[in-house]
Amino acid sequence: MTAIAVLGSTNMDLVAYVPKAPLPGETVTGRAFRTVPGGKGANQAVAAARSGGKVVMIGAVGADEFGVRLRSALTAAGVETAALRTVEGASGTAHITVDDEGGNRIVVIPGANGSVTALEAGDEARIAAAGALLLQLELPLPAVLAGARAARAHGVRTVLTPAPVQPLPAELLAATDLLVPNEHEAAALTGLTDPRQAAEALLATVPEVVITLGAAGVLYAARGRDPLNVPAPRVRAVDTTAAGDTFVGALAVALGEGRPMPEALRWASAAAALSVQRHGAQDSMPTRAETDAFAL
Ligand code: ADP
Repeated sequence: MTAIAVLGSTNMDLVAYVPKAPLPGETVTGRAFRTVPGGKGANQAVAAARSGGKVVMIGAVGADEFGVRLRSALTAAGVETAALRTVEGASGTAHITVDDEGGNRIVVIPGANGSVTALEAGDEARIAAAGALLLQLELPLPAVLAGARAARAHGVRTVLTPAPVQPLPAELLAATDLLVPNEHEAAALTGLTDPRQAAEALLATVPEVVITLGAAGVLYAARGRDPLNVPAPRVRAVDTTAAGDTFVGALAVALGEGRPMPEALRWASAAAALSVQRHGAQDSMPTRAETDAFAL
């Protein structure tokens, strides 16, 4: 089994479904409300575990009811949570309004995630024991940097999802093996809207890049090689929440098993395409058997 460590966020998504999002000063009556476990770190951890990885989650939840639910959602997916601390105060929350056009507005309150500023006892050993460390930018940057440094020191592959997008410190890029932005993040990081140009610019800072392009699939680029486009399976998408996280979790498992990059990209694309056909974030992520069947 591929061992994967995730150093990242856990959030409870508080989702209000509305016909139309309210303007400043306006109140609207919504259709429904749901609380759904999320956070990019936890989403990637669940995706990797469902894909057949042996996953440890490093991070923090708050000492509240959301914290209990966030932990149990991870445990239910088979993710090891001994390194997921419970800290004073509130869990991270994401306040999401989804309108009838599927457009969303999101406010994230980091809560407990904000307390993760460094590695704690045992974390370095957990990272060292993994084949890959998955990182995103929903934890304070010092923690992300510490994780990347630890992974680098132990020869563990680092996979960074640069979201929410922000300028990336040179030290973080230097410790990143594979950068996986979506096309908007790639454009924000480089100022280039053409994915091929953006990928080439990013290769000046990291050795391998995968830019996810939604229904158009992914673009893979590595230093000294021709870029590779892998189209997405054609499916009817009903909810693309966490599609990128599903892709990254599945990709890390496939690469950890030693599968060649093109095959790993196709398999991860199949996992992501399955996820967009179902509603939800973690709930929508396919099992390994489902992805195997779909990827045939
Ligand atoms: P994010 O979820 O981070 O915004 P994308 O929208 O690029 O990222 O989606 C990530 C991946 O999910 C895509 O590269 C693709 O593999 C898959 N995906 C997303 N939308 C679709 C779709 N409509 N049909 C098939 N696959 C999709």
